[in-house]
Amino acid sequence: MKKYADLSPSPRIIMTPGPVEVDPRVSRALSYPMLGQFDPEFTSLMNETMEMLRDLFRTANRWAFPVDGTSRSGIEAVLTGLIEPGERVLVPIYGRFGYLLAEIAERCGAEVVTIEKEWGSVFSTEEVIAAIDREKPSIVAIVHGETSTGRLQPLAEIGHACRERDLLLVVDAVATIGGLPVETDEWKLDAVIGGTQKCLSVPSGMSPLTYNERVEARLLKRKRIERGIRPEGYSDSGEVSFIRSNYLDLAQLQDYWSPLRLNHHTEATAMLYGLREGLRLALEEGLEERFARHRLNERALMAGLEAMGLNLYGDPACKMTVVTCVAIPNGVDGEAVRSQLLADFGIEIASSFGPLKGRIWRIGTMGYSCRKSNVLLTLAALEAVLPLRGYHPVAGRSVQAALAVYREGAGQDE
Ligand SMILES: *Cc1c(COP(=O)(O)O)cnc(C)c1O
Repeated sequence: MKKYADLSPSPRIIMTPGPVEVDPRVSRALSYPMLGQFDPEFTSLMNETMEMLRDLFRTANRWAFPVDGTSRSGIEAVLTGLIEPGERVLVPIYGRFGYLLAEIAERCGAEVVTIEKEWGSVFSTEEVIAAIDREKPSIVAIVHGETSTGRLQPLAEIGHACRERDLLLVVDAVATIGGLPVETDEWKLDAVIGGTQKCLSVPSGMSPLTYNERVEARLLKRKRIERGIRPEGYSDSGEVSFIRSNYLDLAQLQDYWSPLRLNHHTEATAMLYGLREGLRLALEEGLEERFARHRLNERALMAGLEAMGLNLYGDPACKMTVVTCVAIPNGVDGEAVRSQLLADFGIEIASSFGPLKGRIWRIGTMGYSCRKSNVLLTLAALEAVLPLRGYHPVAGRSVQAALAVYREGAGQDE
């Protein structure tokens, strides 16, 4: 019989836009004993998780819970629930994940209209509003933080414009939640999808999301319930355009997350422990303090990269704090550098997608990975590896530049 070795993944320093390192307290939570899905101890953990998610999303929405599946399952749940065949959906695209929104909307039968912005920049509010007024969609779906290009799309004014026109605004905040402000209520976002494996530093496998009563009204209109578990007196809405997914049916899932506890799938017990612990840690740190930590490490990283003479990619005015994109210097084999960082230093940085593949590296500073020692080690390792690949930074400068930012940052905190 074939023997397999003990599972023993190498410890890594993960400086990518996800998945990132997990706080040991989250790992510990993942290993706790099972509870049954209707055990009152477990359902109270579900309720606490909802409460914490409301704080994270800065919302008073009743509905804030995780969908089981990676972040795109949350995106798919929202779009499948909202989009009826032939519905006009506007997707402003400024990177890879905008295309994902458009693709999912299309699969839901939407008549998708897109506007595109050159990668490395974001839309002005006016551009999005002009497209809304021209195309007359009923739903707008947009990415908040584009991990593929490291850009951040401001949403407050777009949110208000959508609300004034009575459109629904769906936001992919997978990469930003827990690392940058996401003001669901203040910005008038109707549905927001977050992620676990990025700034929350929980393994991938859940998609926390929230939506308001405007979205809920649509879901209820399209609701169906399995005959086998129907509460007495329930009958389906007469709607022919009922929600086409069972697993991702938010109208059913919200019953499972309500005091009704109407059975749907079996909640992912261990993942819920992990998410609850990740949320607890984020709220204990304080969201403002957490955002400030991400900004400080970003500044130190950028100072170090620039001291090496490397060029940052993209419009600095809309740079997302938690991802820093670096132009790969001419003549340098970007993949060889990444491989050596991993093999010799145990450090992982990312490449990018589509038109940016081979042109930039992406360095994430997210969640538990976002700390001083990681930033300094990454800079030192890059500085050591680059000369072997034909690029000669001035040795020793970059770590000093980053350290100077940290010293200054410590001064500011006092
Ligand atoms: C990572 C990411 C996703 C996809 O998340 P999965 O968990 O891999 O499904 C979607 N949108 C953005 C902006 C992301 O960064």
